[in-house]
Amino acid sequence: MYRSDVVDATGAGPGSVVLIQEQARAGSQRREDKSVPSASLAPRRATRPGAPRLLGSAFYSTASEIAIRMISPKPVADIEGLVRERIRAAIAYRERFVQNTNAYRVIFSEGDFLPGLIVDRYNDILSVQVLTQAMDAAPIRRAFLSGLNEALNPAAVFERVDPRVRKLEQLQDKESGLIGSATGVSPVESAKSPLTTTEFQINGVRFVYDAQAGQKTGAFLDQRENYAAAAQYARGEALDVFCYQGGFALHLARTCDKVTGVDSSRSALEAAEQNAGLNGREIEWIEANAFDLLRDYSDAGRKFDTIVLDPPAFAKSRQSRETALRGYKELNLRALKMLRPGGILVSCSCSYHVSGADLLEVLASAAQDSHRIVRNLENRGQAKDHPSMLGIPETAYLKCIISVVS
Ligand code: SAH
Repeated sequence: MYRSDVVDATGAGPGSVVLIQEQARAGSQRREDKSVPSASLAPRRATRPGAPRLLGSAFYSTASEIAIRMISPKPVADIEGLVRERIRAAIAYRERFVQNTNAYRVIFSEGDFLPGLIVDRYNDILSVQVLTQAMDAAPIRRAFLSGLNEALNPAAVFERVDPRVRKLEQLQDKESGLIGSATGVSPVESAKSPLTTTEFQINGVRFVYDAQAGQKTGAFLDQRENYAAAAQYARGEALDVFCYQGGFALHLARTCDKVTGVDSSRSALEAAEQNAGLNGREIEWIEANAFDLLRDYSDAGRKFDTIVLDPPAFAKSRQSRETALRGYKELNLRALKMLRPGGILVSCSCSYHVSGADLLEVLASAAQDSHRIVRNLENRGQAKDHPSMLGIPETAYLKCIISVVS
């Protein structure tokens, strides 16, 4: 809930656990018990006069526009116990729903009822991101670290710090580094440590991992199930556009005759080449601006049998949605023109502000402009280790549409 929803939060400190109540209608009393800080919201629907309605408990931020993140529909007496219990539940969920990988998201913030915490597992290394005042508080940090250590016994726990997020939450500056390890190395010793590198596998494809490098926490784990789905249909000559470290390309190489990956980041392509070596594959990597390269290729009449488009989030806010849609349209149009009859298009978007329906519409209009017939094989989303919560639409953000083009 946003700061603008809060009418009173006197006494609620940075990162505190607060009781959330809906303010009663005019003439009623405020809650009298002052032992737990509380925040009051404006009444949304008719409440009984004289009775503020208790909505539950939340983490409070004094800095963020998202002032309130709900953690329980009830009052919470033991927050550290609750965090440890949520960690155990999140891990049990993965044991049930995640297969064929030792790299997956262990904790997905709101999706695991632990708002502000992201934990990714890469084989024996955990990569942690702390995004809110409440998660940064020392007792909560101790609680989630002990929960993670107990259940997963990692060789190392590495914290990736996003300085922009810490600034927004008015948290002290901090460097990325080890925050825990099986051998008890202190964060000071962690500058360049073998503990921060490992190898992981997704669907039997091998990847190098360096906790200190790369984008996000290292890999785009949300695409894990889509890699396997894409490989199932892929064939012939394949082009993986926005390939990063080769997630799709390496999977496509299992079924395709020739695979080319394109990205503008040289360091991503260096990791991609290492990954290809690890899997005994030959893949052509091209460092280029994808828009320029697609234009040159389509002008030159290049053809492919499979094309993957997985661009970065073009729409970071609602305002940039129109520009983003034009970007998606251009990419999809060029891809459709370059596909041979019977070709496979895998078109993704990770912009929350562009919906699945929007992306399908873009694809339909690109199909019309390119005079191609596009049949939809699968409308997919993020992998199940990034659970999307009904009632919190922001937790569903990834779209992956697989089509066959004639
Ligand atoms: N498909 C990848 C994830 C792609 S993330 C995977 O599954 O792992 C988006 C990628 O687009 C990043 O690697 C980024 O370096 C790259 N990128 C961003 N803008 C680009 C551009 N204009 N041209 C080419 N690559 C770009």
